[in-house]
Amino acid sequence: MIESENAKEEIREIVGGCIKCGLCRSLCPVLRELKEEQYSPRGKAMMLSDESIEKIIYDCTLCKACEKQCPANLKLCKAFIHARAVLVKQKKEIPENREMIKNLEKSGNMFGTLEEEN
Ligand code: SF4
Ligand code: SF4
Repeated sequence: MIESENAKEEIREIVGGCIKCGLCRSLCPVLRELKEEQYSPRGKAMMLSDESIEKIIYDCTLCKACEKQCPANLKLCKAFIHARAVLVKQKKEIPENREMIKNLEKSGNMFGTLEEEN
């Protein structure tokens, strides 16, 4: 759980402008696969604004497709990046995320593989 009240407030401020119009629903690749409202940009905006942040924090590819047609100009990716950064700072990221960071530090890519020389 994100403990920083400041961070929660900043995230709430970003997603608070969602007018729940649903125009973004058809654009989200995650919703297309998982087919449940909580994975839609609208659903994620609602969950980011309350205490359910951790449940969906890695359910966004940061593709920004939803931002292109959002009438409220919601910057959902910014909220996700901010929330993830706070969790990493608090050392509460998920094991897969920790592994990815280790790989990036070690090899420069998230899979931990070294580039083959030509
Ligand atoms: S298009 Fe924007 S305002 Fe409309 S539901 Fe999606 S995120 Fe909210
Ligand atoms: S940025 Fe996230 S929420 Fe928006 S369309 Fe892409 S995956 Fe869906």
